[in-house]
Amino acid sequence: MKVAIIGSCLSGMSLGLRLLNSGHEVILLSPHQDLNDAGAAYLINSVTLNSLRSLNLQIDSAVTPLEGDSANDYFGESATNAMGLLYSVHRADLHKELYRSIGADRFLLNKRFCHFEPPHNVHVESAVFHDGTEVIADLFVGADGAQSVVREKHVQGSELRNINLIQVSGISRVTKNSTLLNKLIRVFVDPENGTQILIYPTTKTLCSWILQFEDKSYSLSNQKLPIPKLVDKFCERLPVELKTLFAEGRFVSSRLNHCSDRKLPEFIHKDNVILIGEAAHPTLPSLTKGTDSDLEDALLLGDLIDGLDRGFFPTMDTCLTTFTRERRPLLNSRFRRGRKNHALRQTRENAFSY
Ligand SMILES: Cc1cc2nc3c(=O)[nH]c(=O)nc-3n(C[C@H](O)[C@H](O)[C@H](O)COP(=O)(O)OP(=O)(O)OC[C@H]3O[C@@H](n4cnc5c(N)ncnc54)[C@H](O)[C@@H]3O)c2cc1C
Repeated sequence: MKVAIIGSCLSGMSLGLRLLNSGHEVILLSPHQDLNDAGAAYLINSVTLNSLRSLNLQIDSAVTPLEGDSANDYFGESATNAMGLLYSVHRADLHKELYRSIGADRFLLNKRFCHFEPPHNVHVESAVFHDGTEVIADLFVGADGAQSVVREKHVQGSELRNINLIQVSGISRVTKNSTLLNKLIRVFVDPENGTQILIYPTTKTLCSWILQFEDKSYSLSNQKLPIPKLVDKFCERLPVELKTLFAEGRFVSSRLNHCSDRKLPEFIHKDNVILIGEAAHPTLPSLTKGTDSDLEDALLLGDLIDGLDRGFFPTMDTCLTTFTRERRPLLNSRFRRGRKNHALRQTRENAFSY
């Protein structure tokens, strides 16, 4: 079976490698010239780590086990302690290893998906890209992220909702013996403006951070600031030791996202087009198992496509419906937890601000 995967970040590449390992013909399409690496290290649990290893990836040097977590407010007073995350995985190194294992010849770069052909058919024959390239396949997978164009054009379902939260994440260089590298996830919350920052080690000299703040604090003047200055502004009250993360020359990479939510639809596929990862279910700001969910999608879909090839399903539709049936209960329970945490956080913030 020929599978075209639109979007080549973590879920797209993981599915690509999983399918190649069982002999399928795969093509991966990316709108970029190179891999999309900016942002903090992935936070994953041990099951996801084993799943990555099951793909025969050499990733041990990219993985840092996190022994525990501590939550503090900006004045060092201890608060809740409920992250339960276990490993940080260097994003760029993991992407490089996935790319190497898949092989450069399976990628078509600079290909931004535009629409399907025939345009109004339920069954799709080809995907068309902005430069006019047309890719024919038996199955099309939308792994093109939260703002998925594949979803918009073919598997709409419920609307993507902005949840008024901005997340800036990145990686900074730290000195080798810095206490920031002590295998802990630290969470700092500024009760005065509701800003929250997570900090966790990534390699022997790199530290990841994820800063979240409300949309309403992101005024026009803030939007003009380069990311290091923006982060510095929102972290004014952080302990000095942590502020060094944002000093000049310490930044390795960073990115800014507007967080969103979306009700999981009845079906995550339509005929021979299916969504996985962020395209199917955006990560909520509480970071409840975003990466774990994306990897689970990729591996389960790989197993089901193998089953389809071996004749375990009468049609592709039955196979892809099984994907939705299996994924919905777990995803929905994670979303419920994530939304509850977000609502709780907003109530606390409002209580602080008014
Ligand atoms: C706001 C936010 C914050 C997050 N923070 C963290 C975090 O701190 N730690 C963590 O572990 N995980 C985090 N995640 C989750 C993590 O980013 C994802 O699990 C991971 O990126 C895998 O997602 P994905 O591959 O499904 O989609 P994405 O990573 O979004 O990749 C989608 C890919 O599709 C491409 N694409 C987009 N449009 C098109 C098009 N038209 N045609 C072709 N390709 C296209 C994009 O360029 C991109 O390469 C966060 C996610 C979000 C949304």
